[in-house]
Amino acid sequence: MKKVVLFSIYCLISFCFLFAKTISTIIIDPGHGGKDPGALGKTTQEKEINLELALNLQENLLSLMPEKQVLLTRDSDIYITLKDRVKVIEKYKDSIFISLHANSSTYTSATGYEIFYSKKLTKNKELALTLLEKIESDFPSLRNRGLKNGNLFVLENSDVPSVLIEIGFISNENEEKLISSSEFLLKLSQTISKALSFYCSKEEESR
Ligand SMILES: [Zn+2]
Repeated sequence: MKKVVLFSIYCLISFCFLFAKTISTIIIDPGHGGKDPGALGKTTQEKEINLELALNLQENLLSLMPEKQVLLTRDSDIYITLKDRVKVIEKYKDSIFISLHANSSTYTSATGYEIFYSKKLTKNKELALTLLEKIESDFPSLRNRGLKNGNLFVLENSDVPSVLIEIGFISNENEEKLISSSEFLLKLSQTISKALSFYCSKEEESR
């Protein structure tokens, strides 16, 4: 009897170890959409920038890590509540979550990118820092505003490593032109993909 119990425990541990080893899914969350345009620039809307970047990112991630599932909370111009975005995270316990946004300020001189994370999980900061460092090295001419904590619904309600990237300011005329250009969004998606691939391999090695 004792042997059976021990064997069962051994099987359970092996099973958990086997299935906890990899990050199976990357969830990309293009902010806003549909009736919610997000921040408004002179010629563009935030929701369009977020979606174009998300679609690029999905394609890049799938070519870099074909073994992973890459999901989008929206892949078209539709409105989704924050609660529904969180529901997607809840379905995939072994995932990481990246929300994409563009910033806005009443100070039109404000520029730069920043990454929000929640202190809820220590892994959130590791993920945020990996992304920040990679963006800084690939885009040295952009202003790095650093890591930020903020009480953001999707981050506070996520139980997997999660970050929210504000890629730049749509309220600054020059930065709006830059961050809405297809060339920039393609290059940034490559940068984010490489950072995520690096994070996943480091994370999986340590498991
Ligand atoms: Zn936003």
